[in-house]
Amino acid sequence: MANSKMTYNKLTLSFPEKEEKHFFKKYFSDSIIQVRFAFVLLIILYGIFGYLDLLMFPEFAKTFHTIRYVFVIPFLSVVFFLSFTKIFQKIWQELLFISFIIGGLGIGIMIMLVPENYAYYSGMMLVFSAGYFFVKLRFLLATIAGWIVLLIYNVGVIFYAQASGIIIITTNFFFISANIIGMVAAYSIEFYARRNFYLNYQLDNEKQMVEDINKNLEKIVVERTNELVLAKEAAETNSANVTAIIEGTQENIWAFNRNYEILYINQVFQREFQQTFGVWLEPGVNLIESLPEPLRPFWKPRYDRVLNNEQFTIEDAIDTGNGIIYIQVTFNPIAKKGKVVGGSCFGSDITFRKRAEIELINAKERAEESDRLKTSFLANMSHEIRTPMNGILGFSELLKNPELSGEKQQEYISIIENSGARMLNIINDIIDISKIEAGLMKISIQESNINEQMQYIYIFFKPEVEVKRMMLILNKTLPDEEAIINTDREKFYAILTNLVKNALKYSNQGIIEFGYFNKGNFLEFYVKDTGIGIPNDRQAAIFERFIQADVDNKMAIQGAGLGLSITKSFIEMLGGKIWVESEVGVGSTFYFTLPFQTN
Ligand code: ADP
Repeated sequence: MANSKMTYNKLTLSFPEKEEKHFFKKYFSDSIIQVRFAFVLLIILYGIFGYLDLLMFPEFAKTFHTIRYVFVIPFLSVVFFLSFTKIFQKIWQELLFISFIIGGLGIGIMIMLVPENYAYYSGMMLVFSAGYFFVKLRFLLATIAGWIVLLIYNVGVIFYAQASGIIIITTNFFFISANIIGMVAAYSIEFYARRNFYLNYQLDNEKQMVEDINKNLEKIVVERTNELVLAKEAAETNSANVTAIIEGTQENIWAFNRNYEILYINQVFQREFQQTFGVWLEPGVNLIESLPEPLRPFWKPRYDRVLNNEQFTIEDAIDTGNGIIYIQVTFNPIAKKGKVVGGSCFGSDITFRKRAEIELINAKERAEESDRLKTSFLANMSHEIRTPMNGILGFSELLKNPELSGEKQQEYISIIENSGARMLNIINDIIDISKIEAGLMKISIQESNINEQMQYIYIFFKPEVEVKRMMLILNKTLPDEEAIINTDREKFYAILTNLVKNALKYSNQGIIEFGYFNKGNFLEFYVKDTGIGIPNDRQAAIFERFIQADVDNKMAIQGAGLGLSITKSFIEMLGGKIWVESEVGVGSTFYFTLPFQTN
């Protein structure tokens, strides 16, 4: 009956079975008090009206009183008492129905005995009204009972009492009217009682339904709330973990949306950006506008590439003024439901790694160069040693010939001596360079007269120079007594010898001049020749070990490329420096300095 339309039988007013049962139970419990009260009242009235019998019809009083006190009132009393038993609920309507008929019959008989007595017709009306409205008899039963009473009355009054036609007609007028009015009224009373019940019933049902829905809803709400709490906790843990990772790293991390506005930024990047550009970044700030104008054309296209769903890594070298730093940034698109909504960036300072890489490359190049030099040195060395060795062995063989003239013998012996000297030279050079490299080369400083030493070298080389038809000039600018410095005599001698020897070696004509100038704190020595010269790009290299200015140079046949590097080491040990000025085909001038303390 949850639908709003009430279903009932229009004639009997009955509901469908299930509801009818509910209704009837309720109808009974609502009616029982009134039923009892009605019966008590009816019994009293039925009894009191017996007094009228005595007043109006003393001759019938006995019969009337029998009807009243022997039949009707005892029956009504039995019904009243039965109303306190359990059986009553099952048969109450039937009992009320019989009570109506018996009450009506009682009066009916009294009227039949005295048809002219109009007063008792009013009694009949009271019975009708009690039966229809008062005792809670259902409409249908009340109607049947009402018409039965009327029918029996008419049978009795017509056939038994043989009353006059006028009496029969008048009484029927009243009784039929009373029955009809009673029917309509009873119908309407029962209809409204049922409607009331129906509405309450429906209300109860709906209330129950609403309560059920509410309970269900509450359950769902509790379940959802629990799920939400769990999800929230999981999200919080997750977020805490991610934050710990992002904030715990040394990387720069930031993310932005399609308008280049910052969605997320870690503290490392905030600090570094501020240190570099003086701008404090935070979520919502526009990344492009925060950059200095000149950098924007570099960065905007990168952000645009990410927003075009590209993942890539870039490396930048930034000149900070305090040296170059290198950074590496990885760009990743952020996609939601297949659409790129922004990008994330991970930036690291890779300066350390980059420098190590560069260092490594340089070291590799140096190692390769040194390897190459050593190889060429070995090849050179074997040539350098083999040449004089062959000379010694070859000419020793020739000397064995007994027919050799004395002149030839002298010539061969001198070749063998020269070759030996050359070997000795090379071996000395190798020993020197090994000592220098091992840090074992010692110096012994003592007062030395440079004029004397240079004069000695001049005398030593003069014959050789003249053999080449060249001129040797010595330029001493200090008087002998002032030309005294504290230095290592042996090394000074080796330095100058080496330079003059090279000048002679790499010149075929012209002049070789050597000397010095007083420059105050130091003396500047020079050895000048008019020889083949040294190309510009080789002038620094010739002071390196194992390097010859031009390996293809025919004039470099003699020499291991060690002399100048030994010379340079010696000069530096004595507190000076060496350099060269030279032009190919014109000549070379080697300069070196040595400390000079005037007394
Ligand atoms: P080397 O034993 O080959 O002479 P050095 O170390 O003395 O070795 O010299 C290195 C190279 O420098 C020589 O091979 C030569 O090419 C060049 N050089 C040195 N001195 C002169 C010079 N006076 N004129 C031209 N080239 C020179």
